Amino acid sequence: MPRVYNFSAGPAVLPEEVLSQAAAEMLDYHGCGMSVMEMSHRSPVFQGILDEAEADLRQLMGVPDDYAALFLQGGDSLLFSTVFMNLAKNGKADYVVSGNWSKKAFEQAQILGDPKLLASSEDGNFSYVPDVSSLDVRDDASFVYICQNETITGTRYPELPDTKGHVLVADQSSMFLSEPVDVGSYGLIHAGVQKNVGPAGVQVVIVRRDLIAEDLAEVPTMLRLKTHADAGSLYDTPNCWGIYVCGLVFKWLLALGGLAEMEKINRSKATLLYDYLDASGLFSSTVAPRDRSLMNVPFVTGDAELDRRFVAEAAEEGLVNLKGHRLVGGMRASIYNAMPEEGVRALVEFMDRFEKGVRR
Ligand SMILES: *Cc1c(COP(=O)(O)O)cnc(C)c1O
Repeated sequence: MPRVYNFSAGPAVLPEEVLSQAAAEMLDYHGCGMSVMEMSHRSPVFQGILDEAEADLRQLMGVPDDYAALFLQGGDSLLFSTVFMNLAKNGKADYVVSGNWSKKAFEQAQILGDPKLLASSEDGNFSYVPDVSSLDVRDDASFVYICQNETITGTRYPELPDTKGHVLVADQSSMFLSEPVDVGSYGLIHAGVQKNVGPAGVQVVIVRRDLIAEDLAEVPTMLRLKTHADAGSLYDTPNCWGIYVCGLVFKWLLALGGLAEMEKINRSKATLLYDYLDASGLFSSTVAPRDRSLMNVPFVTGDAELDRRFVAEAAEEGLVNLKGHRLVGGMRASIYNAMPEEGVRALVEFMDRFEKGVRR
């Protein structure tokens, strides 16, 4: 079967060149006579893979020297707790809830301490990003938390919040490496790589070193950022294979021209789809125009039966995983870095044909 256009929200499409290279190196990685999956994480060869991945990530994002870049495990959902336990001294941190993922992070903070809800767009089914220009941040809040791109409802912050000088923490899972970001504006960035960068099972944490707490007697060793920062992401066995594939994707991005170039391509793809949705008499976007994600594009016809038919017929055309999240319904096209522009073009052409068929 030929490769399909896979619009899955995650795990998601990866660059074909990267998959081919991983396949070619599967039985014999660079003359080792074994695959990356089979080698010791303490071997010089794997240390080289890890070092190169970190160096390439730093170059791509322009990570300053006073930030650590860690490759962790446990799911991005575990980081909702880990981040709070490590950064919320006195148990206080303030949250903006713009979708399901930031809501989940806020709920974990409620279990662990005394978070404050600064703003929420739940009243509008998370179809927009709350106004963050003048938040009532507590003086003693350790950080302000956002999910910068909400994967399920398809919103993206048009600009970062005014944190009133407080540390900003952002979950960037579904926009990670999709556009340049100014790392210095954040205290901590975390991302599960299975959305845009690699196979499931790796989370990247980029954290300003002075925020890595030293004195966490109550926190289990594995949940201390200090443990992993001190050990260079090798305190215990990491996801060696996952880190290796991420490293290949980093090189793919660098060869493409880096994140500024990637953003240009992503904007062009997203514009193609949103322009069609805004002109369509059948399909419509569910998100406020200024807050629309470049990565996750939910859309509806307003008729659940028609939505179902669309998803089924699209799949027959090789346009797969377009069913919307159960919390939103309708459709969702995730058009991550590795989705080629031809894939988005094929989707728009099929939507147009479908629309004409319904009108007839
Ligand atoms: C998928 C996702 C998560 C959760 O990731 P897991 O690795 O499945 O725990 C968290 N935040 C965002 C924005 C996501 O898209």
